[in-house]
Amino acid sequence: MAPSYDTLGFIGLGAMGEPMIGNVIRKMPNCQIQVYDISREALEKISAKHDKVRICSSSREVAEKSEVILSMVPEGSHVRSVYLTPDTGVLGLDASGKLLVDCSTIDTASSLEVREECLKKYPTAGFYDAPVSGGALGAEKGTLTFMVGCAEDDPKWPELQALLGMMGKSIVACGGPSLGLTAKLCNNYCSALIALATSEAMNIGMRAGMDPRVLANVFKTSTAQSAIAEKFNPVPGLSPEAPPSHGYQGGFKVQLMRKDFSLAVDTARRVGAKTVLSEVGLETYDKASKDPRCKDLDSRVVYRYLDGREDWLKDFDG
Ligand code: NAD
Repeated sequence: MAPSYDTLGFIGLGAMGEPMIGNVIRKMPNCQIQVYDISREALEKISAKHDKVRICSSSREVAEKSEVILSMVPEGSHVRSVYLTPDTGVLGLDASGKLLVDCSTIDTASSLEVREECLKKYPTAGFYDAPVSGGALGAEKGTLTFMVGCAEDDPKWPELQALLGMMGKSIVACGGPSLGLTAKLCNNYCSALIALATSEAMNIGMRAGMDPRVLANVFKTSTAQSAIAEKFNPVPGLSPEAPPSHGYQGGFKVQLMRKDFSLAVDTARRVGAKTVLSEVGLETYDKASKDPRCKDLDSRVVYRYLDGREDWLKDFDG
């Protein structure tokens, strides 16, 4: 069931934040939504789309006027700016009793710093990391997965489930502060490497003369099976609805995957986890995100970065 807030604030109205708010508005039609973004264009776009939203002049003003505040900005530096900037940040006012939820994918150190500052100043406020998976399409459809940095016995867990349930289908308590981010970074580390391995294997098979449709079918019932091979196959034409079959347009940008992969590698170093794929994975996503053939496109474009054949169909049909 949707919660019954009178006021809710949202900071960061980009590819993810804008459709997430759309779902909140649909589920709580009587709630006043306060929004802020540093981009004027983003603010104009949201007010043209939803007459319910009220534009604020800073993150602090959003917080002043809202019981619960969500943020969805790109990186740790932006999250620190949203919460910690003395005169304009969320924590610049008395945030006692407020629920603050950051959904950005950022480094755990920035998230823990904001949480600590929040609890030091306002012990009755709650700050949670709750990054998401599911992309802009999941944000639009309200089917996101939220990975929440708390345990199931956290007193705010029922409220967090109801709040995030307006925008997502699967809300997972990951165990404690910053562990939502850890879950997200581990997921993307794994998914980035599976996409790379699938691209390499498909490229090897095709260059050796295989029809990629046959090879993808073999993967489906063999040990190379994965969501990437079946639903997001990096070879154009194999997963008809996925970005690789549409010029790699839409989806999850290769630069964002590079950022997440790099954050996961930093985490591995911090916790002393031995890895053998991290260096080569990072170098590949770094180079692909700067390659003009790949930049701004879906991360499965690593297949193109490997010079994989994209017009393979003409070899097989007529
Ligand atoms: P985006 O660049 O489209 O939007 C971010 C918005 O934040 C922009 O409108 C920007 O102007 C605003 N912003 C930046 N700094 C700000 C500040 N200090 N105060 C207020 N607004 C500020 O990014 P996005 O794709 O929406 O991604 C947001 C986060 O979600 C990232 O951490 C990303 O890794 C994560 N994420 C993205 C996707 C995806 O498919 N796009 C999927 C899962 C997770």
